[in-house]
Amino acid sequence: MSRLDSAIRRLEAQRACLDFACEAIAGRPGPVFELGLGNGRTYDHLRSRLGEARAIYVFERKVAAHPDCIPPDERLYLGDFAETLPRAAAEHSGRVVLAHADMGSGDEAANARLAAFVSQALAPALAPGALVLSDQTLTLEGAETLDLPQGVAPGRYHLYRVPSAV
Ligand code: SAM
Repeated sequence: MSRLDSAIRRLEAQRACLDFACEAIAGRPGPVFELGLGNGRTYDHLRSRLGEARAIYVFERKVAAHPDCIPPDERLYLGDFAETLPRAAAEHSGRVVLAHADMGSGDEAANARLAAFVSQALAPALAPGALVLSDQTLTLEGAETLDLPQGVAPGRYHLYRVPSAV
């Protein structure tokens, strides 16, 4: 497989997972967290799929996205996740219905440390039954690992659902 084939597959898988998650939360009120703005591709996709009524809060240490894909200031948590995520989790405690984390770099050890931190810092924000989609393996206590949408190779992305309230 060429590097172009591989990049296309990765992006198709990401889009399939995002589309699945957006459909799954339709009709469920609550904000969405987008961890890692990057160039704004997935933020823009979420925004177009979810519509203006859905609040999407974006987390990024340094904004370098396409100018059309920068969230409004009041929906941007600017800074390191280590500082912004615990604060945001307290502000949106138990209400977030979807979190998407696309945060990995080429450093596997750093990715593992970041995934461990995000797993514990994100948890208090999540609503019962919330979905979490990530490029990294997360460890969310009590969460179920869901099958990826059809056509997405196992391990390419990670999809979790936290328990519903009893
Ligand atoms: N989903 C994005 C897109 O479609 O354009 C790409 C995201 S890119 C792979 C990862 C982003 O996460 C980078 O912009 C990086 O700055 C951000 N990031 C990684 N670790 C972070 C941290 N600890 N705090 C804040 N931002 C972080």
